[in-house]
Amino acid sequence: MKNIKATDNEKLIKEKYKPYENEDSDILAINGGKAVRDNLLPYGKQWIDDSDVEAVVHILKSDYLTTGPKVKEFEEKFADYVGSKYAVALSNGTAALHAACYAAGITKGDEVITTPITFAASANCVLYQGGRPVFADIDPLTYNIDINDIERKITKNTKAIIPVDFAGQPVDLDAIREIADKYNLIVIEDAAHSLGSEYKGQKIGTLADMTEFSLHPVKHITTGEGGIITTNNLDLYNKLSLFRAHGITRETQQLLNKNEGPWYYEQLELGYNYRMTDIQCALGISQLKKLDKFIRRRKALVHKYNELLKEIDGVIRPFEASFSNSSYHLYIIQLELEKFTVGRKEIFEALRAENIGVNVHYVPVYYHPHYQNLGYSKGLCPNAEKLYERIITLPLFPAMIDTDLEDVVVALRKVLNYYKK
Ligand SMILES: *Cc1c(COP(=O)(O)O)cnc(C)c1O
Repeated sequence: MKNIKATDNEKLIKEKYKPYENEDSDILAINGGKAVRDNLLPYGKQWIDDSDVEAVVHILKSDYLTTGPKVKEFEEKFADYVGSKYAVALSNGTAALHAACYAAGITKGDEVITTPITFAASANCVLYQGGRPVFADIDPLTYNIDINDIERKITKNTKAIIPVDFAGQPVDLDAIREIADKYNLIVIEDAAHSLGSEYKGQKIGTLADMTEFSLHPVKHITTGEGGIITTNNLDLYNKLSLFRAHGITRETQQLLNKNEGPWYYEQLELGYNYRMTDIQCALGISQLKKLDKFIRRRKALVHKYNELLKEIDGVIRPFEASFSNSSYHLYIIQLELEKFTVGRKEIFEALRAENIGVNVHYVPVYYHPHYQNLGYSKGLCPNAEKLYERIITLPLFPAMIDTDLEDVVVALRKVLNYYKK
């Protein structure tokens, strides 16, 4: 990738920004001025090309729409990509987390430690199994779960940890493994953001007991809806496979009654119908071929954001730990609110009016009414709560072109200049 020099950046911003420095064009769109863009730039979006369409149509014309040969093929190719022994495809990432909690043996009375700065599914999966999510605070630099706070939150009821590789940056997996071994805990890594990321040079997917990925359209690759778990543990693999298909098996070695007949199957446990279709798996196989290209593009965009945003006062760019090589699901900035006359809400609304599809990831999970009703109260995780007030997610997806990114930077500069103290 070509390096962008600071001087080029300044020139670029000045040229792009010029229209807003004279006459009426520096009027914010929210105050009736002209928006930086005519159409809304979304914060994330899938990349589907003709080869994806062909792969799906091929399955639609074949004998199996679901639970045919494509499921196994997708699982094998996915496992190959991350370097794991096994992969189990499920109907979505949330179902995958539910299955992982089941396989980990989470049940009533068990506590599972996770982060509040995540999508609700990372904690909901514990509730599904009757367990209690316990929130550890985040590290203010990486925004990932704070390793020291994990250890403080461990009780005799703690069974597992669900760390989240927030925005794509892996958690410190060696440190988490050390705690897990010390207290005999299972590690379920929520890697919904980190497909293709590396921790100390090793791909995410084998470093926890189970690693969950999401294949939702905003994630690195998509199957429409979809989730997948990788593991190197045969016992966990068997449990996950049972759980996604009603708890039913036809495998002779798993049957209790082995001599009933060829039609025979047994439901060993209460499972769900969490299967992925062959239609989706064909799309997944096709998408997987493009994953490395998608990641290269995401990294190039992040590099460009990092360079251009250097010039904008009041913006804290993402920090990446030395052990991380992130595949970047999200690009999140923090606003130094002390430097502005308004809060995040006004800045957010002004950016949306400029047609920049900014977002916020995430509302701390325990702020949600359902969690408040369960007895969680604000004040639990001060770092997470402070961060939540100050973050904005900027658009990032592989199909974004350079001028899209420049529009984001121009809009940000226009809005922040206006609200500067
Ligand atoms: C996307 C996501 C999931 C899973 O979501 P699904 O939409 O069910 O695939 C889980 N955790 C995090 C952090 C996510 O971003």
